[in-house]
Amino acid sequence: MFNDDAYFRFGNYVGYRNGFADSDLTNEKLVSILQQAIKSINLILLCFDDENKITYANSKAFKMFNVTSSEELEKEFLDWISNDTKHLEYSNWCQIYESMEGEKVYDIICQKIYDTDNKLRNSIYVIDECVQNSSNKAGVRYRQMHDPLTGLLNRDGFCHVVEEYRKLHINTDETHYLIITNIRDFKLINQMLGDKDGDSILKTTGRIIRSLMYPEDIYGRLYADKFAVLVSERNFDKSMYRNMINLVRSQITSDKQGLRLQVGIYRMEDLSDDVITMCDKALIALKSISSEEPVAYAYYEPLMMQKALTEKAVVTNFDTALKNGEFKIYLQPQMNQRGELIGSEALVRWKKIDNTVIPPNAFIPVLEKSNLISRLDLYVWELAAIKLREWQHTEFSDLYISVNISPRDMEFIDVYDAITGLVDKYEIEPAKLHLEITETVIMRNPATVSELITKLKDAGFVVEIDDFGSGYSSLNMLKDIKADVIKIDMGFLRKSENEERSRIILDSIIYMTKRLGMGTVTEGVETTKQFEFLRSMGCDVYQGYLFSKPVPVQEFEAKYSHVYNAEKII
Ligand code: C2E
Ligand code: CA
Ligand code: CA
Repeated sequence: MFNDDAYFRFGNYVGYRNGFADSDLTNEKLVSILQQAIKSINLILLCFDDENKITYANSKAFKMFNVTSSEELEKEFLDWISNDTKHLEYSNWCQIYESMEGEKVYDIICQKIYDTDNKLRNSIYVIDECVQNSSNKAGVRYRQMHDPLTGLLNRDGFCHVVEEYRKLHINTDETHYLIITNIRDFKLINQMLGDKDGDSILKTTGRIIRSLMYPEDIYGRLYADKFAVLVSERNFDKSMYRNMINLVRSQITSDKQGLRLQVGIYRMEDLSDDVITMCDKALIALKSISSEEPVAYAYYEPLMMQKALTEKAVVTNFDTALKNGEFKIYLQPQMNQRGELIGSEALVRWKKIDNTVIPPNAFIPVLEKSNLISRLDLYVWELAAIKLREWQHTEFSDLYISVNISPRDMEFIDVYDAITGLVDKYEIEPAKLHLEITETVIMRNPATVSELITKLKDAGFVVEIDDFGSGYSSLNMLKDIKADVIKIDMGFLRKSENEERSRIILDSIIYMTKRLGMGTVTEGVETTKQFEFLRSMGCDVYQGYLFSKPVPVQEFEAKYSHVYNAEKII
C-alpha cells in the first residue's frame, strides 16, 4: 500500500499516483494495472539487466523484430541498437530499422537505472515509430533531412525546419536565439583519440542536446562538431551548455580536461534574417571567441561582421599568396653587449602585389585560428635556412637567424622532423638556427614541449623562450624547461608608472637566468638609456628599434655588410 504520492517514470512517460483514498489498491493490483497499460500502449518496450539480458519485452517488441524467442530478440535488438552512451542516464535518438515491410524510422529513449553504488542495474528502452512514417519512403526522406551519425537534423534539415518555423512566426515579437556550438580543437581530439572515439563524442553530444531541449526547439548538426539550435526567449538557458559539456565529459574516458565548448549566440528581436544569415552571424560570434574557459560564450555584434570579412580575405588569399611568394622575411638585428651584430630575428611580412606591406599581427592570429599557420611557418623557416646557406663563406657566415614557432605548429606538424629536415637539406649548422617558442605554448603542454625542447637542443639548435614574463606562471615553467636562452618580453621596458619596479624585475630575471645557466635577450630596446641599464644588469643580447626595425633582407645585408666587414677587419 502506498501512503505517499508515488511517481513512475519510463523515459518521458511519467505516471503519477495521487494518494488514493481507495485502500483496496494494493501494490499487486497497481502493478497489474500498469502491466495492462503497457500492453495496450503503442510503444515498443524492452528491459535489460546489468548483463544485457532481456528481463522484459512487450509483444510489440517481438513483432517489430519479427522474432518469437527472447534470445532472438536480444540478438536482433542489440545488433541494431547503436547505443554507446555509456554513463548517460537518459538518452534519446532516432534510428532506421529495415524490415520486410521496408525502412522505418524509430525514436528511441533509453533510461538507465543505477543502484546506490552507481552500478548499472537495468536499461529500459522505449521505442516509438516516428510519425512521418506514413510511406515506405520514410527512410529516404529521413536520410535527406538527418545526419546519420547523431540522428539529429542535418544542415539541410535544420535549415528547412527553421525556414518553416520562420514562415509561421514571422510576425512574432518574441526574441529568438540562434546558437551554434563548437567543441574546441575537435580536429585535434579526433587525431588523438581516433575517428571512432571522435564520432562517439559527437553522437553523445547529439543525444545530450536532444535530451536537454524542449520539443518546440529546433536543433541539428550543421557539420563536423558544429551543432545549431533555434530557441525562443522562453526556452533560452545559457547554463544548459555548461550542463552539456559536463555530460559530454562524463562520457569520454580520456582527455576530459581538454574538452572545451564554445558557444556563439545570435540574439534576434524578430525573425527577419533567413536561416543562412542567422547561422553566419552565430558562427561569426563563435569565431570571435578566444577565451580558454571550459565553456565560452560570445554574442554576435554588427562590428564582428566587418572583422570576419577581413579575416576571410586572409584565409581565402593565403594559398595564392604563399605560392606567389608574397610572404617575405624581414630581419631585425640582435646585438651583443658591445653593440655588435651577432644575429637577427626573422619576422614575416605579407607584401601584396600592389606593394602594400601587411604586418604579422594582421594575419598571424587569423592563420593560427584557421590552422594555416604551420604552412606559413614552414615556409619562413625554409627562407631562413636558405639565407643561412647563402651566407656560408660570406661575411655573414657567423650570424644566426632566429625563427618563431607558433603554438599551433606543434599540433599540426612534427616540428622536430621539419626543422632537422631543413638543416639536412641546406647543410647548415643547427646552432645557426635559433628557435623561439613562446612561453604560453610551453605552459599549455609542458611535458610534450619540454621533450621537444630537449630533443632540439640535443640536435644542436639554440632554443629560446620568447615573450618571457608575459604569461601567468613564467617562473614555475622555468623549473622544468631547460632552454638555452630567455627572451624577455618587451612589456618590462614599456613606459609605465612602475618603471622602477620593472627594472628590479628585469634585473632579477637576468640574474636568475644566469644562475640557471641560460642566456638572455631583451627585445624592444628603444633608447640608449635602456641599452645602458640592461648592460649593467648583464643582459647578453639586445634587439630593438635603437639598432634597427625589422628590414627586408637585402636592406639588412646592405646595411650591415660594411659595418660587419669593418668589425671583422679590426
Ligand atoms: P615577437 O616574436 O615578439 O617579435 C617582436 C616584435 O616586436 C616584432 O613585431 C618587432 O618588430 C617588434 N619590435 C622589435 N623591436 C621593437 C622595439 O624596439 N619597439 C617596439 N615597439 N616593437 C619592437 P612584428 O614583426 O610586428 O611581429 C609581431 C609578432 O608576430 C611577433 O612577435 C611574433 O609573435 C609574430 N610573428 C612574426 N613573424 C612570425 C613568423 O614567421 N611566424 C610566427 N608564428 N609568428 C611570427
Ligand atoms: Ca619572437
Ligand atoms: Ca617576443
